[in-house]
Amino acid sequence: MSEGDAILKGFIEATNLTVAVAVVPSVAQEARRRHGLRAVSAALLGQAFAAAGVLTALQKGDTRVNLQLECDGALRGLLVDAGVDGTMRGYAKNALVDLELGADFRWRAALGNKGFLSVLRDIGSEYYRSSIELEAFELVADLNRYFVMSEQVKTHVAIATGARGAEPLGMVAAVLVQALPNGELTALEALGATLQASLEAAVADASIVTADALFGRLFPALAVTQRTPARFACTCSKQRTLDTLRSLGKDELQEIIDTAGSTAVTCHFCATKYEVSLPELFALVEELEGGSLKN
Ligand SMILES: [Zn+2]
Repeated sequence: MSEGDAILKGFIEATNLTVAVAVVPSVAQEARRRHGLRAVSAALLGQAFAAAGVLTALQKGDTRVNLQLECDGALRGLLVDAGVDGTMRGYAKNALVDLELGADFRWRAALGNKGFLSVLRDIGSEYYRSSIELEAFELVADLNRYFVMSEQVKTHVAIATGARGAEPLGMVAAVLVQALPNGELTALEALGATLQASLEAAVADASIVTADALFGRLFPALAVTQRTPARFACTCSKQRTLDTLRSLGKDELQEIIDTAGSTAVTCHFCATKYEVSLPELFALVEELEGGSLKN
């Protein structure tokens, strides 16, 4: 159950289309557990993990993609950071959103009436960030608009989540199709027109539990050319926490010592709490006072 999350890539040679499928239920469930997310916060963050997963499939080298949603609804926003290596982390600004409406307004209570979707792509040494205003207030529709407005390359994306047994996030998936140079745009549009419905049907089929099975349902007879296992993983550590505290400077550290005596720093991305004791704070101040003399 905790295994199997993956990002798969394939290539439709006849029409020069690239396809990517992200299946990340375990990542979504791990985020829900770590952050104590209620149903709607968990579902929207799960969608964002799946979307970021297929976006990483378009990246080159050992880079990362950030997908950020800011909104005036109850959720307030979310952020997912995903690496080409399959590591993912993220959080919802409000963990406690539980209200889901019917039909076309399903996510409106969570997302509200105004907001932005931003994608930050790390292209080697540079970052490209582009944002669009939310219009559909549904991640998949606004992400498709993002591709129309921000990217040069014709792309279609679909996202769906579905239950497996008692687990509401038993299947969390996204699929992307993109035309390569010389790609057949009519074939792309034909695939794009049914992509969301095809993914929803596959996600609704409880017999499909693996990334490969989902890929096979969506693209029968197409070979998987690249398989990247995905997992929830954060880059934070006690050492990084101490580095951050050290960067506050001597005076501010002394104030923490004088007022609180010790401190705790919680990582936004993974909710890990790092306790920093009084002796550790003293050591940081000493380091800053001593400077290079001690070495
Ligand atoms: Zn962390």
